[in-house]
Amino acid sequence: MARSTTAQSQNFMSTSLESKRGTFNKHPDFNKKILVVEDEAAMLQTLRYNLERSGYNVVTAGDGRTAVAMAQREQPDLVVLDVMLPVLDGIEVCKEIRKSSSVPIIMLTAKDQEIDKVIALELGADDYVTKPFALHEFLARVKARLRRRNPLAQDRDRAIALGDIVLDPARQHLTVRGKDVSLAPKEFALLRVLMENAGRVVTRQTLLDKVWGYDFEGEQQTVSVHVRWLREKIEQDSRNPRHIITVRSRGYLFKE
Ligand code: CA
Repeated sequence: MARSTTAQSQNFMSTSLESKRGTFNKHPDFNKKILVVEDEAAMLQTLRYNLERSGYNVVTAGDGRTAVAMAQREQPDLVVLDVMLPVLDGIEVCKEIRKSSSVPIIMLTAKDQEIDKVIALELGADDYVTKPFALHEFLARVKARLRRRNPLAQDRDRAIALGDIVLDPARQHLTVRGKDVSLAPKEFALLRVLMENAGRVVTRQTLLDKVWGYDFEGEQQTVSVHVRWLREKIEQDSRNPRHIITVRSRGYLFKE
């Protein structure tokens, strides 16, 4: 998948001039708004230039505090977020944005910041790119993240109500038996996939792909751990779950 996306991205770049003349409007990524957060001016300029060349609308922030405010005000379709930032670092910014938004976030990390990747993914970043990176690879990641979100775009704001559980993706809000329940971003995403597929078995691999992303190098154990946390929050008796049922050696199934 990564390889074909890269090829498409180069193709897209080479036709980006036409997009400026309006002949490329049908491209689903055209005019998507991207917030780029980076304090190094040269890097910021390079990213902006190349994203704009590819047909995206770019807004920028040079520190963490401004980034949080802009994410709320501008409602971007995607955020590119450097980890090393003044005022608030990228990890804190990611945490703040996730309190109110499910916008895709791609983190930029340096080679010696391995731990930041793990933390960032736990906090709800969707992907990361390690500096230094090739621009075509970066653009391919951007495109892949926007594309992945597209099929859901129409339904993105629709709340799912099943029995006494109501999940509202637009507000990242969950109500269980009439009470507000607060979930971590990955728990929320996990429950959402299960509820969207209510009554059907969803395999651990599918959950890993949909919630953690295709490039995530984690184990299926990650899913089990998050399911356990989720059950503790939504089930009346988490050891005897009624809603999130384990289907042995296959996966999980959501029951109303
Ligand atoms: Ca930086």
